[in-house]
Amino acid sequence: MPGYQPRRRVLEPGFDNPVRESHLTPIFAASLERNNRMSKLAIGVVGLPNVGKSTLFRALTAVSVPAANYPFCTIDPNVGVVEVPDPRLDRLAELVQPQDVIATVVEFVDIAGLVKGASEGEGLGNKFLQNIREVDAIAHVIRCFEDEAVVRVGQDPLHDREVVEMELALSDLDQVARALDRTERRARTGDKDAKAEAAVLSRLVARLEAGEPARAEPLSEDDRRAVRSLNLLTLKPTLYVANVSEDMVGQDAQTVQTLRDALLAEDSGAVVVEVCAQLESDVLELDESERHEYLEAHGVETGGLDRLIHAGYKLLGLQTFFTVGEKEVRAWTLHVGAKAPEAAGEIHTDFEKGFIRAETIAYEDFVEAGSLKRSRELGKMRLEGKEYVVQDGDVMLFRAAP
Ligand code: GDP
Repeated sequence: MPGYQPRRRVLEPGFDNPVRESHLTPIFAASLERNNRMSKLAIGVVGLPNVGKSTLFRALTAVSVPAANYPFCTIDPNVGVVEVPDPRLDRLAELVQPQDVIATVVEFVDIAGLVKGASEGEGLGNKFLQNIREVDAIAHVIRCFEDEAVVRVGQDPLHDREVVEMELALSDLDQVARALDRTERRARTGDKDAKAEAAVLSRLVARLEAGEPARAEPLSEDDRRAVRSLNLLTLKPTLYVANVSEDMVGQDAQTVQTLRDALLAEDSGAVVVEVCAQLESDVLELDESERHEYLEAHGVETGGLDRLIHAGYKLLGLQTFFTVGEKEVRAWTLHVGAKAPEAAGEIHTDFEKGFIRAETIAYEDFVEAGSLKRSRELGKMRLEGKEYVVQDGDVMLFRAAP
């Protein structure tokens, strides 16, 4: 949205349980415990050394909110917890004037440089790769900036990308081969499930041995379930971060175009985000008043971090619904296609179990009406049941039985 300034709120240190009574059935409000069901979304940052990962991570941590305020997030110096900027949340807050405004968050996990041979224990080796097994998606930083003062570990964007993906594939191969070994032993004892599982694993071994990612293998839902616990890196959704020079940002440089074309030719859904990590990081170190001057003087724009956060959120197939009340206006994260009880469950598991209905107003209708009360009067509030598929931007109020 033009002119939109993302709200980088730092929450008060004493801020505790983000679940407040305002949008809860009174019966439940009294018995609420800390909610630990909320989706924790983590994106692991990978790339060769000297591509700008630490610089990018520094910028992300500068906009990071204290992890302690989000009980479901990891407290770790290598994790930056960033709010997903959403102008709709700000608009709702303007209308409702609550005591608190809470955005949804995404975690970025910094991982030390990947070098060729990492999967075999060189550099930080497998330890490094283990650290990202738990993440939901991968942000692969690719060096598209030129700077003779910074040693280039790789060659060019396409080659660098291959080196990293090959290491990830080799690490997966190791996991899959070991799992296949175990599964085959079980299959020999006549275990039918093990036989089916071994067949999937064998296909993956062949794929990975050919140096291809696991995602290149067509997998059914059952196949996916069978290998889920292996947390394969090359099955995770991946977005590419093209780290460009300060003077190239927004210019759609040739290097970025070439990278984008190559990735799109492979996968029409490939996501490439252009960022100048150095600029984002430098600007965040300046005072608010100096920032504007700096950007003007250099004739550049920031916004790369927001683009990255949004791209990550979208890549994971997520959407947002809102709850509004005097105490709190809040954005929540939900998978696209999820039904109303699941949305209730994001707030509290008891809400999912006792779900009765969800009073639902589309975001645009709420803004037009200006308040919950007025939305009701205008007939914009719908009573939705268990089968309702939540839409992005829905403002929801849940009713649940104890
Ligand atoms: P990492 O090894 O991938 O974590 O890379 P670093 O973030 O430590 O960056 C390596 C060097 O490249 C540092 O000296 C950065 O200042 C520099 N660097 C990172 N991003 C950019 C960029 O966008 N432009 C330029 N010119 N230098 C950058």
